[in-house]
Amino acid sequence: MYQKPKGTRDLLGRELQRLEALNAAARAFFGQNGYEEIRTPTFEFAALFDRSIGETTDIVEHEIYKFEVNKKLYALRPEGTASVLRAFIENKLRLPVRFLYLWSMYRRERPQKGRYREFLQIGIELLGESKPFYDADIIERGKQYLQSVGARDFTIELNSIGCPECREAYRRTLEDYLQPNLSRLCDDCRRRFERNFLRIFDCKKESCQRLYDDAPKITDKLCGECAQHYVDVKKYLRYFGVDYVENKKMVRGLDYYTRTVFEFKHGELGAQDTIIAGGRYDLLMRELGGPDTPCIGWALGPERLLLTMPEELPSVKARRAFFLIGVGERYLPTMISLRTQIHNNGHRCFLGDPGEPIKHQMKKADRFKADHVVICGEDEEKEGIYTVKEMSTGRQSKIPVAEFESFLIHA
Ligand SMILES: [Zn+2]
Ligand SMILES: [Zn+2]
Repeated sequence: MYQKPKGTRDLLGRELQRLEALNAAARAFFGQNGYEEIRTPTFEFAALFDRSIGETTDIVEHEIYKFEVNKKLYALRPEGTASVLRAFIENKLRLPVRFLYLWSMYRRERPQKGRYREFLQIGIELLGESKPFYDADIIERGKQYLQSVGARDFTIELNSIGCPECREAYRRTLEDYLQPNLSRLCDDCRRRFERNFLRIFDCKKESCQRLYDDAPKITDKLCGECAQHYVDVKKYLRYFGVDYVENKKMVRGLDYYTRTVFEFKHGELGAQDTIIAGGRYDLLMRELGGPDTPCIGWALGPERLLLTMPEELPSVKARRAFFLIGVGERYLPTMISLRTQIHNNGHRCFLGDPGEPIKHQMKKADRFKADHVVICGEDEEKEGIYTVKEMSTGRQSKIPVAEFESFLIHA
């Protein structure tokens, strides 16, 4: 017996349908908003992610699946942004441009509820726009998308982590504050402070967090331009009618963010409560060898989002399953055109084999969990009706052929 690797899963049935419903809604919604879908290879040269995500981040240090073939080091993509930018540069595309991706990502994390080692992300990237208007715009589009699929009760957290200049000045301020308290920091935080100091705010330890509550925050130490950008993002969010809370301790786990960072959180999810995370990354394109290009984007975890949603997604029209039973082969042409009519109304429909006894066909209808069985036979033909049996109640009704379309619309 073979088993799937730890942290992976087989998607089938209802769960796959729910995920596909979110994907379909994203393609439709972001397509309307000028986002082009993009697909890049599942694996890239490992250096791309080392360079973009930051060599001292947890992701690059511990979580990327790397493999060597013919002395070349490859990696399964742990996130989408680096690949999108690499593709933009390599294909010499024109600015501004908007991308949508719906991809599997791979990280060697400890599996938890709603978190897998192969997981899905729906992401958007807006390349070539520097103005705060666009920060607000993509946050608002995220909110609107979530609402369109029926997600509720999420909150939006916002922060600015400035540019390299304000960060350097802030680092000294923070150092002064932390110096007398260094012994109270955990080992991880002491290490982080040396290599990647903003990341100390991600620490899960309460003792560290108490210290950081009173620490000076980067948002209060922004340079003039970054401060104005942040003020304007908030102004446009108010225009868009987007409620947000400022979280001065949110810094995001990736090195490449500049200025605006944000997360959409859902209260029911516990510790892993982020459903959308993103931010501005104005320096990454140049870092990867491309033209100086301001960019902003976010990624959504559909698996986690689904944990917050009802089994029947409100955004998805319930599709009924029909099973057609024929009483003899001569009814097959009727059944075939009936199937087309049912499919055209968005329902599922299976054909029975009209050469088989009705009892056998009924069994298959059960097997396929049909909501309705439609019988096509001599009586039906004579009377100009279909006999429809509702499987959950066992109720049978005779529906005139002329009224069947209207029945399907309301089924
Ligand atoms: Zn700045
Ligand atoms: Zn700590």
